[in-house]
Amino acid sequence: MNKFIAQEEQFCAHNYEPLPVVLSRGRGIHLWDEQGRRYTDMMSAYSAVSHGHLHPRLVSALNKQIAQLAVISRAFYSDKLGPFLEKACEITGQDRALPMNTGAEAVETALKAARKWAYQVKGVPKNKAEIIACEGNFHGRTIAIVGLSSEDQYREGFGPFPGGLKTIAFADADALEQAITPNTAAFIVEPIQGENGIIVPPEGYLAKCAEICKKHNVLLLVDEIQTGLGRTGRMFACEYDNIKPDGLILGKALGGGLLPVSMFLSSREVMDVFTPGDHGSTFGGNPLAAAVGLEALNVVIEKQFPQQAEKLGEYFMAGLREIKCDAVTDVRGKGLLIGVEFDPEKITARQVCEALMQKNILSKETHDTVVRFAPPLVITQQEIDEALAIIQNVFEAI
Ligand SMILES: *Cc1c(COP(=O)(O)O)cnc(C)c1O
Repeated sequence: MNKFIAQEEQFCAHNYEPLPVVLSRGRGIHLWDEQGRRYTDMMSAYSAVSHGHLHPRLVSALNKQIAQLAVISRAFYSDKLGPFLEKACEITGQDRALPMNTGAEAVETALKAARKWAYQVKGVPKNKAEIIACEGNFHGRTIAIVGLSSEDQYREGFGPFPGGLKTIAFADADALEQAITPNTAAFIVEPIQGENGIIVPPEGYLAKCAEICKKHNVLLLVDEIQTGLGRTGRMFACEYDNIKPDGLILGKALGGGLLPVSMFLSSREVMDVFTPGDHGSTFGGNPLAAAVGLEALNVVIEKQFPQQAEKLGEYFMAGLREIKCDAVTDVRGKGLLIGVEFDPEKITARQVCEALMQKNILSKETHDTVVRFAPPLVITQQEIDEALAIIQNVFEAI
């Protein structure tokens, strides 16, 4: 066995099952293993690397900032956090942002804000606030968040979970209306369920949810950690339904593929339930993260990531649909967030990923049946053509 694989197997917790490739370099849409073999990245680290690996403008922003100041905690102000958050509020239309590091922390922040808002503003009796989420959701891995999950493996062995959490069917607005009670604080939802297999709800679903939430004075919290910042062909996937959520959660690509940067954004009414000492993070919003985050947003806007993802996503998906392969049961997605579903009686998604890896394309299955194609948004049409030719060979050999 490769020595680095053996070393990880010995010293790292076995909480992932990586493909057997040892990467040592990356640039743009490409990754290289230690022997110098080049791969095309169709994973983008679960959309954290939408900008591509080591985007020169982001590396330059990081280098510039790291020569000045990196971490100070929020005990002090910095000359980088304000400009970053102003930009984030400007492009989301939200009033205020609370910076964190990982996606799960930003989701926790949203849930805490919603609960406190329910008590202070909505008037829900103490400790009675309820949060509704969807079956098949993925919002992260903390105990509270897996308490919201409907996935047995995410929960089994980790209970007990906090109370006041429930799940309803995804893509079913009526189920939401029925689940709401006078104590409901918030409904949290992904515009497209990424980890559940790139599940796209019917058009208008989020708009209906927004209407129902408004009617019942329930906060609509949209988790765009994976779908946000251009990935689906819009800056935010909820723009397809023309809605502005009461709370928006960002992460992954917000750090430009260099650092963990996340945030929860909302109105003053919601965000102002937080007072000094209520909630925080030592690293959240540090000058290094803020400098990289701001440049990551600038690149998304200037390089027109949403338009690129829309155009190239349609092209890529059309190409995938043209491939003749009996084992493929569905090709779906939006923008450059694409899932190909396989008939498990014919082949597992893992086997497809291993076959793609042999031909220098890296992706990872989600669940047992879906292979994801979510390249960095800097990919070109020619590079998609090259990838499609290989994917076609691999699929046709199945
Ligand atoms: C990845 C992801 C998270 C969790 O983010 P981490 O940075 O891994 O904590 C939450 N929600 C969605 C939709 C995600 O895709």
